[in-house]
Amino acid sequence: MIKPIVTSLIMLRMPSEEATPEDAQVGQDLLDTLAAHAHECVGLAANMIGVHKRVIVVQDGSKARLMYNPDIIRGAGEYRTEEACLSLQGTRPTARWRRIKVSYLDEEFHQHVRTFTGEVAQAIQHEIDHCNGVVI
Ligand SMILES: [Zn+2]
Repeated sequence: MIKPIVTSLIMLRMPSEEATPEDAQVGQDLLDTLAAHAHECVGLAANMIGVHKRVIVVQDGSKARLMYNPDIIRGAGEYRTEEACLSLQGTRPTARWRRIKVSYLDEEFHQHVRTFTGEVAQAIQHEIDHCNGVVI
């Protein structure tokens, strides 16, 4: 189901809790909501649709990649950039890693450890920040 986007900073700054298989519907709602905003957005975190669970979706090429409980194990190649966010107005400066190693559970709750680079790595970092209650 396509959900409205939360813009309240009070809501966005609350850290999210670990997700469980019972949060599968949250994942589906994130996929549906990202698809509805595909022209303006490359990722979403669950708290942006009002659910304080650690679930994110990022556009990875042609695939919308769902991640439960994502964690950055390692980052390399720090750089400064500007980002926009569907929950905020305008762009803001931030620091990111060019390459990250991430552990996460996929849509079937299978564990993965994978390295991501470039735009998808940037989107994952932005959405994990949301899980931690951090807005750019
Ligand atoms: Zn955002």
